[in-house]
Formats: sequence, structure tokens, C-alpha cells
Amino acid sequence: MVWDRQVSIKSSDEIAIMRKAGEINAEALAAAKNAIHPGVSTAEINKAAEDVLIRHGVYSPFKNYPGPFPYPASTTVSINDELVHGIPNKRRLKEGDIVSIDCGTVFEGFVADSAISVGVGQLSTEAYNLLKVTENSLYIGIEQMVAGHRIGDVSSAIQQYVESEGLFVTREYTGHGVGRRMHEGPQVPNYGEPGNGMLLRKGMTIALEPMVLIGTHVTQVQPDGWTVTSRDGSLTAHFEHSVAITDNGPMILTLLADGTPPHQITGQ
Ligand code: MG
Ligand code: MG
Repeated sequence: MVWDRQVSIKSSDEIAIMRKAGEINAEALAAAKNAIHPGVSTAEINKAAEDVLIRHGVYSPFKNYPGPFPYPASTTVSINDELVHGIPNKRRLKEGDIVSIDCGTVFEGFVADSAISVGVGQLSTEAYNLLKVTENSLYIGIEQMVAGHRIGDVSSAIQQYVESEGLFVTREYTGHGVGRRMHEGPQVPNYGEPGNGMLLRKGMTIALEPMVLIGTHVTQVQPDGWTVTSRDGSLTAHFEHSVAITDNGPMILTLLADGTPPHQITGQ
């Protein structure tokens, strides 16, 4: 990961640009979601998102992101035990899979970063519950993103909720500041202690991203150098929004134009 550790405070004009970046990003994720059907490849899902970015004349900061080799796609598409950073390829979705799509957008020099996890057709109760808990944990964390709170208030809210549901949060991957760069300071873990860590201030913009696993918090990187999976092979899920801290509380930047998220878990 390339991290610019500095925390940057954004003006309201800059936040307005980031909201526009987030709207395009949400549109790309919604298109990717709509492409999800049994038999569709993860490369086709990536293309559905990328087509939206191209149509808007923007690009993803994921493309060529430095790593074991430059990241080759606009999104990451991760299936089942793959937690994050799955490289889109010829693998085809099956009924009952969980697909996590992470997408970024650069618009007028600012980045939006957001992820959704989507079930393919009918899910097991276990898989459905994982998706619902992961989605809930994101919004529980966002509620804590208020000026005057500390990062630990956000982190611990996510951890306590997820663990109360008998699931696990990852330790090795975290949320992060987002702005002119995809990864800025501060790091925002999905675990922690209330009252600890950096004070949240108006104008901070943070990509909050709970990554939740059914059987363990331990992950491993696959031989391709990018794909991160649960160590025990258990199912995983990931939801992410980029959020600005404002005078009026947390403002989610990565919503569609109508103010709704690109994906919501509904009853099955
Ligand atoms: Mg992301
Ligand atoms: Mg992120």
C-alpha cells in the first residue's frame, strides 16, 4: 500500500467535488451490481463498472495501483472467502455466492472509494446474515463520525456490533483518509477502544470499510500477490463508504444522485 499519512482537511467546495466523485462511483457500483447473475464472470462485472467511469470521462485510482505488480483493473471483485483485492478474471459466479465489489473514482483530482457485497440468487442463512451484519456495521460506524469523537469511537462501535453477532472483523486492513489520494491519514481500524485515537475534525474525509469474516479474523494473501482470503476459508463480506465530517454530522459522499446507496441488503 502507498500511504500518504498526512491528514488533509477539505473545504466545503472540495467536499462538493468529492460528493460528485462519490455519485459517479455509486453509479459504477450500481451498474456492477446489476450485472451480477449466475454464470457472469468477474471480468464482466468489472467492465460494467468501468463502462460507467469511461462514460463520465473519469478513471479508477485502482488501475496501476502499486503492489506486487501494478493493479490491472478498475475494481476489485472478491468472491466468498476472498475478503478484498480479488482481480477480475474469467471466474464465473454461482448461485449462493457472495460477491464483494470495491470501486474508486477520480473526479477533478479527488477520489471516492466505496464497496458493496452482493448475494447471487438465494443465499444460505449464514451468508445472508453476514451481509446484513456487515452492512449494518458500516452505518453504525458512520453514526460515530462526528467532530469531537475519536477514531476509537468509530472503530469500537463496528467491532462491538460485529462481535456481538458472533462474527469477526479483520485486523490487517483498515479504513483510511481519502482525498487527493486514495489512501491518506488517518488509518481507521475496524477494532479499537472508545475514546482512543485521533480526534475527528470538520473537513476530514474518511473511507470507512468494515471487512467481516464468519470464522476468524485471520487472513492470508493468495499466490497472485493481491487477493486476500480468510485463513480458514470461511465466508467474508465488505462494505465501504467515503464520508465527510461536517457541521451537520457525517455526510456520506458515495451515494447515488437520489441519496440512496448503490446497494442495500433486503430480506430474502
Ligand atoms: Mg475501497
Ligand atoms: Mg478504501
